[in-house]
Amino acid sequence: MIQTELTDGRLFDTDAYCHSFDAVVTAVYAEQNTCRLVLDRTAFFPEGGGQLSDIGTLSGYAVTDVQETVRGIEHTVNAPSDAFRVGDTVHGEVDWATRFSAMQCHSAEHILSGIIHQLYGYDNVGFHLGREEMTVDTSGVLTKEQLDRVEDLANAAVYRQIPITVTYPSREELATLTYRSKIALQGRVRIVTIGDVDRCACCAPHVRSTGEIGLIRIVFAERHRGGMRLYVKAGERAARYVRAVSDELARISTMLSAHTTETADAVSRLLTELKDTTLAYKAVLHEQMRRRAEELCVEDAHPVERFSPDMPVECVRTFLNTAVERVRGIAVAILSKADGFTYLLASRTVDLKACIGDINRTLNGRGGGSSAMMQGTFLCSEDAIRSYFKSLVL
Ligand SMILES: [Zn+2]
Repeated sequence: MIQTELTDGRLFDTDAYCHSFDAVVTAVYAEQNTCRLVLDRTAFFPEGGGQLSDIGTLSGYAVTDVQETVRGIEHTVNAPSDAFRVGDTVHGEVDWATRFSAMQCHSAEHILSGIIHQLYGYDNVGFHLGREEMTVDTSGVLTKEQLDRVEDLANAAVYRQIPITVTYPSREELATLTYRSKIALQGRVRIVTIGDVDRCACCAPHVRSTGEIGLIRIVFAERHRGGMRLYVKAGERAARYVRAVSDELARISTMLSAHTTETADAVSRLLTELKDTTLAYKAVLHEQMRRRAEELCVEDAHPVERFSPDMPVECVRTFLNTAVERVRGIAVAILSKADGFTYLLASRTVDLKACIGDINRTLNGRGGGSSAMMQGTFLCSEDAIRSYFKSLVL
């Protein structure tokens, strides 16, 4: 067992921009088609503090996960079990696009959390930094206006190009230092300072200057456990997000023939029109259904009427409510569906509860309702339904 001093060999602690390095293998834990390697030094940031691990390659083999354990920083490598031996020198390449994106996001999170803490006194109580999504949970509720203000100040901090520094203060210095920290760190404490915007204990790599973050955008916020969950895009993720959203908006704008800043009003007008049109359409359908019921041939005691599957059930009920006034037995309405029929039965003279058991048994049906109206499904042919009700004697 290799004893690794956790604070040694962590290249990402002191140089966030190191993404190409050589190291010596100090332990190999081989499994079927993967190896977990511990190295004497590494630029791969292990998963921690809400942030996913780096990915990349070690001597050409894909590094898919990096975890910090009691054995050290373990790199999961897609490689045969005999690919690496203790003492081998390996070349590591951290996937820089993924890492830099995470650095932009993580620094943006510190800026937002620092500003929220300064302005409103709320703490960051949860943080998740995935490959695409970043969420920041606050301990208190923020209004839209407050969030806009936070976002404006965060972007102003970007424009000021504030240096982001990493220090390891002594215990005495730490005692006099004000800083945000949600994790109790053992050993030396790594402090990340962003000028007058934020100071926080943190183990993750950050950009050198706020100017490297680019745009910070809170794209969505919702109430979460007494506070807020903020969905944040920063850096290249924000740029891609803005492109995707503006492309989408341009399509909507073309479809509505409305300016991109007036699409919500145009959609609102469309919805009102749709609601009015639907109401008018349903009124026509109800009227048609009443007329169809008045013209229904009631020669049979239990007439069966088939409706289009698109017919709203409430309109079929209108049909039945009118039809039962004229039908001697049961008025039957069926609507075809993929594997059978939806049925509605109504009667003024027959207790449907008394005969629904036999009906369902014979026509492979399920369903129920009141003595006067039943609804369910038949899994059988239309002919079977028609012949059953034609011969039904009650
Ligand atoms: Zn942090």
